[in-house]
Amino acid sequence: MTGSARREAGTPVVAPPLPILTTVSAARPWAGEDDGLLGPTPFVREDRSGYEARGGHRDRVLLDCGDDRLARLAARPGLPGLLGRGGAAFPALRKIRAVADGVAATGLSPVVVANGAEGEPLSVKDRYLLRYRPHLVLDGLLTVAAALEAPIAHVYVADRAARTSAEAALAELDVPAGGPQVRVFAAQDTYVAGEETAVVRALTTGIARPADKPPRPFQVGVGGAPTLVLNVETLACIARAGLPAGRDAGSTFLATVSGAGRPPVLYELPTGLPLGDLLREHLGRVDSSADVLFGGFFGGILPAWPDLELSHPGVLRRGGSLGCGSLHLLAAPACPVRTTADVVAYYARHNAGQCGMCMASSSAIAATLAELGDPRPGVAYAALLPRWAAQLRGRGACAVPDAIAVLLRALLRSHPQEVTRHLASGCDECRRAPGEPRWGHLLASLPSDGEPVTADGPVGRVPELVPVGVEVR
Ligand code: SF4
Repeated sequence: MTGSARREAGTPVVAPPLPILTTVSAARPWAGEDDGLLGPTPFVREDRSGYEARGGHRDRVLLDCGDDRLARLAARPGLPGLLGRGGAAFPALRKIRAVADGVAATGLSPVVVANGAEGEPLSVKDRYLLRYRPHLVLDGLLTVAAALEAPIAHVYVADRAARTSAEAALAELDVPAGGPQVRVFAAQDTYVAGEETAVVRALTTGIARPADKPPRPFQVGVGGAPTLVLNVETLACIARAGLPAGRDAGSTFLATVSGAGRPPVLYELPTGLPLGDLLREHLGRVDSSADVLFGGFFGGILPAWPDLELSHPGVLRRGGSLGCGSLHLLAAPACPVRTTADVVAYYARHNAGQCGMCMASSSAIAATLAELGDPRPGVAYAALLPRWAAQLRGRGACAVPDAIAVLLRALLRSHPQEVTRHLASGCDECRRAPGEPRWGHLLASLPSDGEPVTADGPVGRVPELVPVGVEVR
């Protein structure tokens, strides 16, 4: 066996020191959840022995015997109801079964991918998990690989410190004969690099750009094989459900909470927690005049309704999307029209530059929303916004047009009086918005502390097949 990640069994592995997420230096579990996704000691990297002391890396051996591996996996508590944590909230078990069906139909061996690209600008949860809970993620990855009998697995990650931690975690594990080959792939640090067809393209060609669908990755994925792409938090939830505590896979979720002039905090929240409870904890009060930008830049701006249920269906019912789970608080006098304009301007700049409709409409919508700050911008705009909100759904190779549609729909539905006020008389707050980049004030609340991943580095290089199999004791 070869490869830099291999080692003699029993040789201790010293992981390199990891920079903490400097702007998110606090992580708080909700009451009674101190052994969940955040782990018992936030911001301290959990190595193999620490994870195994919690019962990790054990339960998946059950999947290695017998024919009914998927049924054994599905029996883990909460797995049938687990929704993916990357943003789209697709049922995880249905995705796994779709790959199994693709394998049965094609006879090809599947590929599984832990997606930790985390392109959403206001989220740090995936980086946190890979930096500080790498074995929880690897356990989930190896579990689904065992369930599908996948010979190859990838850890797809942009953040350099997270990549270092994942590589060290692989080196900490022993190697079995016939185990899956696990590789860490340096993803590009772009907004769209984590979209699942972009993941497949990157792993196949080195270029992280979304592709038209169908086919979807479970049909034709990496190298043409049926491919399962699961977000790293989804995998952590699958692994957690196999720990001796057996906690329901979907019982909690990670939420990066930022904005309102407060230091950002990475919370582990009970799924379905009322927003008012989180605001009382984070701000010390419920500010009903505030707004919340959900899901990184993806989920729309909604008023801070105290009874809003923090779950995918709960936020969807109110007209937004929980997306990747991040919440950015916009305290008064932040203008929801200006913030929507800023986020669309971000999309106009950070789309993948390959779908004409997306490129043209994101620029036009960003310019139009910015003009709503002008005195008496004109009622013609009143018809444009709902038309765009309806027309953009499902267009383009990735979900960026959908994200813009969600933003517009949430604005029109939740802040109609603000839109009317802008159309009638403009807005001082919008006029004060800085020129470029318009979204800078949002990112400033949560800048990345990772070293920049540049095109000169190993980004996008399709790796050699280096066996880094893993044995479960
Ligand atoms: S829809 Fe937009 S962001 Fe997505 S691939 Fe097309 S151009 Fe790129």
